[in-house]
Amino acid sequence: MGERTLIKNGIVLTQDAQLGEMAGADVLIEDDRIVAVARGLSADGVQVIDATGDIVIPGFIDTHRHTWETSIRTCAPDYALITYFSAILDQFAPRYRPEDVHAANAWGALECINAGITTLVDWSHIMNTPDHADAAVQGLHETGIRSVFAFGFPNTSLQVWWFGLDWGGSVERIDGETAHRIRRQLSDDQGLITMALATRGPNFCKPDVVRYEWELARELGINITVHVAMDRFGYTKMQLRGLQEMDLLYPNTTYIHSSHLLDDEWLMVRDSGGNVSLAPQIELQMGHGWAPAQTAERLGIPVGLSSDVATTASSDQFTQMHAIFASERGRRHQVSWDEDLDGTVASSDLITARQVLRWATLDGAKVAGIEDRAGSITPGKKADLVIIDGNAVNVAPIIDPVAAVVCAADISNVDTVIVNGVIRKRGGKLLTDLSGPRRAVMASRDYLVSQVPAQEGWIAKLPS
Ligand SMILES: [Zn+2]
Repeated sequence: MGERTLIKNGIVLTQDAQLGEMAGADVLIEDDRIVAVARGLSADGVQVIDATGDIVIPGFIDTHRHTWETSIRTCAPDYALITYFSAILDQFAPRYRPEDVHAANAWGALECINAGITTLVDWSHIMNTPDHADAAVQGLHETGIRSVFAFGFPNTSLQVWWFGLDWGGSVERIDGETAHRIRRQLSDDQGLITMALATRGPNFCKPDVVRYEWELARELGINITVHVAMDRFGYTKMQLRGLQEMDLLYPNTTYIHSSHLLDDEWLMVRDSGGNVSLAPQIELQMGHGWAPAQTAERLGIPVGLSSDVATTASSDQFTQMHAIFASERGRRHQVSWDEDLDGTVASSDLITARQVLRWATLDGAKVAGIEDRAGSITPGKKADLVIIDGNAVNVAPIIDPVAAVVCAADISNVDTVIVNGVIRKRGGKLLTDLSGPRRAVMASRDYLVSQVPAQEGWIAKLPS
């Protein structure tokens, strides 16, 4: 028998369809797995965590984050998507060294664990050299987080992205040789770090590049994740239609943002077994469009939430839950206001807190392709769990525990975080020494800022 931990007497929001929400329940963990969820469990020789008055949830899943940008956190608070492309992707990305990617990935993954995110999809479009790829994986590995490493393309000039629109599409390709090498390294599809392919698609690339990258994913036996239908060019470039014409609508593909998908494109996502990753805080703030969670939900398409970029907003799932709860309800309220000017009828068809928590956990696991092992507190799944402090001044008293998590709690209430059976945060404190990773990410920031010319505002005042 392996090492065992018993979480006692918590309010357990399992997200498991059979188990539901349980008051005064226990969770028994053995090694890296959940072995039992029930009331009144007892076991000898276990480490006991008393969760009386606290809320136990599955770890949050962040389904899309460019973790390498952690080094330049909050450099671009007022940017729109278009200015982000020219300032971040054209100015900073080409100057990243492997050590910058390493520092950012380690710091970003620690940030995740601190915030109760136990799985991170690292959308890594900073594969400027093979060493950058190794540095990215190493940074994730050192923290013990569960992650999907989405191997991307070199970000060495704007020609890999933006100028492709005017020039008929980029000719830059993902480095297939390095992708194959990393795939051999990440060959265990049940391991702590698994692999996906981060592609650009028909908005940005010439058709032969699109075909090459989609076929590469098939060769590697991994899922694709791609940004689609964002900002105004989402209206004019119909990426899903383009992929359908090329017969490249693969199952389990993640369509990020999806703000402006057309009706027939939504059906393509559903019918091909795709899913969506929505980054509502960033989408609203930077002008991608509304986060269409309700549309996806109506069609039975899994919705994952994501933080996207630390350059511009906070990168935790509480922020995403608040943003989508407000924005998707706000859109429905507007419909009611427009239909009922007297205001005598309550708004109908509003999303609920329970849907939002499911998107941040179980649906996120579906989007990340790891539903078989994460996303719910289910015996047999990996032990990825979070305990929320139910006695905190901004959480107590609890009436509806789901509302306590979705509407009241924040990062400061993340008391305990367990990833793959290992306690990574306890009593509100990370159990990792942050001093080395902090020094590295600050040195990386100083280097990157010193390399980028003509910056204005606070960034110009940083040491160089
Ligand atoms: Zn993104």
